[in-house]
Amino acid sequence: MLCFETEVLRVRRVSPSFVRVTLGGDCLDDLCDGGARGPRDQRIKLIVPTGGGSTAPVADLSPGWYPRWLARDPAERGEMRTYTIRAVRHREIDVDFVLHGVSGPASAWATSARPGDRLTLLGPNRRNGAAYGGIEWAPPEPDRAPVPVLLAADETAVPAVGSILATLSAGYVGHVLLEVPGAEDFQDLFTHAELSVTWLARGDRAHGEALLDAVRQVTAAWGGGPADVDDVDPDELLWEVPAAVAAGGSPYAWVAGEAGVVRDVRRHLVGEVGLPRDSVAFMGYWRLGKTAG
Ligand SMILES: Cc1cc2nc3c(=O)[nH]c(=O)nc-3n(C[C@H](O)[C@H](O)[C@H](O)COP(=O)(O)OP(=O)(O)OC[C@H]3O[C@@H](n4cnc5c(N)ncnc54)[C@H](O)[C@@H]3O)c2cc1C
Repeated sequence: MLCFETEVLRVRRVSPSFVRVTLGGDCLDDLCDGGARGPRDQRIKLIVPTGGGSTAPVADLSPGWYPRWLARDPAERGEMRTYTIRAVRHREIDVDFVLHGVSGPASAWATSARPGDRLTLLGPNRRNGAAYGGIEWAPPEPDRAPVPVLLAADETAVPAVGSILATLSAGYVGHVLLEVPGAEDFQDLFTHAELSVTWLARGDRAHGEALLDAVRQVTAAWGGGPADVDDVDPDELLWEVPAAVAAGGSPYAWVAGEAGVVRDVRRHLVGEVGLPRDSVAFMGYWRLGKTAG
């Protein structure tokens, strides 16, 4: 992992709930871009200033750096949040922020971000090649038959899904289900894969209700049957991903968003449909009512 001191180059309001911030800097030459497969759902850490201006540099990433960083004055160090590389180009990347008000430091920062602002990010080092972490998308490779996949996400994982789809080959078939606050947040997503993309406007419904309904409609055609599923601690940010690339033989599912919603989708896919654990990645990206810090 490396620390990158970047500058905001451009800010574009993609829709009412999303702002795209383009970060640039010569230092991004050293950021691993994922090669031919692209960054997919590559996560990065952003250190957002809380008191205006910019944060003090993270000069030292030697072992034990995180507790040392945490012990610093928050007004000087800022707050760390996890985001996704939506797209990467020569010496610049796009990060799509969900705007959910100004109570969260990251959303607040993105709401007023302007070209010239400074932002520190921690991301994978290009020199480490394939050895870097932070990419969970790992479906089986298409062989002779296409690989069936299901991607189900709320707005916080729309950037990851957009990035995954951008470099996905034609050997994948299936469904992409995306729940966002309103119909104005629907986006055009490019892919070579044969996927049907369904946007779901949440409107006044509870977070995740429309997504779970849509997942049930897709899985109704899969067959399968009940299997044992252990419950997960509702206070924990659910993170359950296969240790290796899925073996294939059953649909591969990638589910990310609010942790309680991901837990409900997990209960359905594992407990009711019986998907094997090595074919499903469940990722709580945030927790309703809880700050990520
Ligand atoms: C691997 C990974 C990748 C991610 N990628 C992205 C990304 O590309 N874009 C993106 O926007 N987010 C992404 N997220 C989610 C993001 O990290 C969280 O939403 C984070 O909590 C935002 O920080 P904050 O400072 O704005 O709010 P916090 O200080 O963490 O939270 C303040 C309050 O806001 C609530 N809250 C947090 N997020 C939301 C939300 N989206 N909608 C409504 N309420 C919310 C919390 O429950 C809390 O009550 C990702 C998370 C992970 C783990």
